[in-house]
Amino acid sequence: MDPENTLTINGNILPFSPGETILDVAREHDIDIPTLCHLKDATPTGECRICVVEVEGARSLLTACTAPAGNGMVVYTESHKVVESRKMLLKLLLASGNHNCAARGSDDRDWTRFQLDVHADDSSPELCPTWGDCRLQDLAYRYQVTGEQFPRTDVPYPMETVNPFIVRDFSRCIKCGRCIQACCDVQVNNAISFGYRGADAKVVAAGDRPLKDSDCVFCGECVQACPVAALVEKDVRYHVRPWETKKVRTTCSYCGVGCQLYLHVKDGRVVKVTGVEDVAPNYGSLCVKGRFGFNFIASPDRLTTPLIKENGEFREASWDEALDKVAENFTRIKNDHGPDAFGVLTSARISNEENYIAQKFTRAVLKTNSVDHCARL
Ligand code: SF4
Ligand code: SF4
Ligand code: SF4
Repeated sequence: MDPENTLTINGNILPFSPGETILDVAREHDIDIPTLCHLKDATPTGECRICVVEVEGARSLLTACTAPAGNGMVVYTESHKVVESRKMLLKLLLASGNHNCAARGSDDRDWTRFQLDVHADDSSPELCPTWGDCRLQDLAYRYQVTGEQFPRTDVPYPMETVNPFIVRDFSRCIKCGRCIQACCDVQVNNAISFGYRGADAKVVAAGDRPLKDSDCVFCGECVQACPVAALVEKDVRYHVRPWETKKVRTTCSYCGVGCQLYLHVKDGRVVKVTGVEDVAPNYGSLCVKGRFGFNFIASPDRLTTPLIKENGEFREASWDEALDKVAENFTRIKNDHGPDAFGVLTSARISNEENYIAQKFTRAVLKTNSVDHCARL
């Protein structure tokens, strides 16, 4: 251990590399410092201040995500001052806007007036759509705080529901800025930024227009980055609770990049898709097709039975009958016109193995090299 580069966190003497922050060192050694605004691989902003830590000799608490690790530093991540500061921040965040999940009455039996008010504002028969999958809620439980202590501040911006894939609920936004970093630093789409000032601050697109009228390409990176229910997939909102799904890891079938994704499956149906973080090639990012283009899987328009066209009309057939018909016609065409009368188009949506079989069939059975794929099939 290089004695020039060590610091002490909660009594543990730990090495660090020049340029690392206190948060980096803590995470490398499985010391949990909570964060809300911190987004991996983006420049830390210290916006939310939840990651504050106490450093001996420092005049105030420091944000661990921005404070560089220093030789000989003595850091406490859960001291009384740190915990009190985090509790105060959480109380203020919970009282700002529409955060009804953690605010139980003191008798622990009834919904509070606070909860009933925000419930009514949401115009929904249910409480928050991300209840159970929310970083702010997790921290409220961890530090046992509610939003009751402060009067609730209303957010003057109505929910934006006109977009095809994303609902923006400004009343639940904690202004952490993760969506902006996800859009501008990670995806480099530059579709959103902070607008207005102070209490009126808001994440805006194209001078405060709906996402659908902006440069947004609906990649959904911002939704995956949002730690609360301010950005939610439209199809998921109030249809799926987080604990009702199981996650199945797979490879995106739209193109050859091979993005790694999780299918969130409820009752045998894919209801949502997220990118797998920290894994090549996409490291959690997806495009609009990979993230939102899954409704075709359960589309009632999909064929489940072969169809044979006779006298201009399709009729259902068995697989044996359909395959015999295809073989008979292929043989006739090949005999009459030669193998180059055929051209085979496969699809980027099928697997490598299926594409291999298709080209093998084209070359070895049909005896032509006219084989290609079409990304839109
Ligand atoms: S966004 Fe999070 S903290 Fe706010 S109500 Fe929903 S679950 Fe609770
Ligand atoms: S969906 Fe993608 S492009 Fe649109 S705002 Fe979110 S991150 Fe930016
Ligand atoms: S929309 Fe979500 S990610 Fe963006 S600033 Fe608000 S809370 Fe943070």
